Amino acid sequence: MIGALPEEIVFTSGGTEADNFALEGIAYAHEATGNEIITSAIEHPAVLACCDFLATRGFKITHLPVDQFGVVSSESVAQAITPKTILVSIMHANNEIGTIEPIREISEVIKGARGQGPGARKIYFHTDAVQTAGHIPVNVNELGVDLLAVSAHKLYGPKGVGLLYVRQGTKLTSLIHGGGQERNRRASTENVAGIVGFGAAAEIAVREMADENKKLVKLRDDFIKKVLTGISDSHLNGDPVRRLPNNVSFSLNYIEGEAMLINLDFEGIAASTGSACSSGSLEPSHVLKAIGLSYELSHGSLRFSLGKETTEEEVERAVEVLDKVVKKLRAMSPLGKK
Ligand code: PLP
Repeated sequence: MIGALPEEIVFTSGGTEADNFALEGIAYAHEATGNEIITSAIEHPAVLACCDFLATRGFKITHLPVDQFGVVSSESVAQAITPKTILVSIMHANNEIGTIEPIREISEVIKGARGQGPGARKIYFHTDAVQTAGHIPVNVNELGVDLLAVSAHKLYGPKGVGLLYVRQGTKLTSLIHGGGQERNRRASTENVAGIVGFGAAAEIAVREMADENKKLVKLRDDFIKKVLTGISDSHLNGDPVRRLPNNVSFSLNYIEGEAMLINLDFEGIAASTGSACSSGSLEPSHVLKAIGLSYELSHGSLRFSLGKETTEEEVERAVEVLDKVVKKLRAMSPLGKK
């Protein structure tokens, strides 16, 4: 699924552990050569919280900003690299707004900064591919990464299993110490049932990817077009073109996202405000903040995820219901426009 050799795979308990292993594993194995890590402002908490932890252990973290579409520019990576940089971690696609990052371009910049020959430095490149593996083509060599995280449940596999791709020759400090499993990289008896389920899900994902993508991109673009043309003061979050086939994220003026969610739920439509990990908190999502949305607008944001079983009729109904709910809430909104 990702173009790796079998020995380059370490199975983990999920995407979070894979991200933590990449970051902490590189940080501790290479701290003698440098203590600086570059990441973006819009990473999943599996990366951001781990970076916060590493900051308490003496590592310096640079959080790169993104543009209005959520894109990390390769120029910003080039500018942030210093002689002390040991790791760059930029996600392949964002889980809230669906933007796909220019990973290949960023890897070229890192390759340039490393240099060649005896003076070559090691700057490792990790990408969190939890949102992309099994959904769009992911190839570790084409992307030019040293480390890559995947989670099974995001591609219809079982929960509680994931993997970290580790390019041959990459030295990592283990997080879990004990027996010699996973080539001495992760101790503990393997989750065989989970791993086999992950393998089966990956096989199906690869087989169905092209057809699935075609279907989802059409549904996604219909959904976006209908909302942007049919509902006033609605905006698309994320990149209009370079985005995940299954992600639709809007922000709507003069509306409170939680009220929208409850009303949609009454009609049997599941959506999310911000990210699932931040819902339940009143803080606007860090991703929506990073793309420059105001406090009010980020509270009026809504994300829909499309999947294998989503139909055209469901998309049509979701738009109809959303239109009705938005009108109702705006009519009673203290936030402004009626
Ligand atoms: N990274 C991204 C981009 C995700 O979307 C998620 C899950 O939502 C994770 C990491 C964490 O994966 P897991 O739940 O398997 O630990």
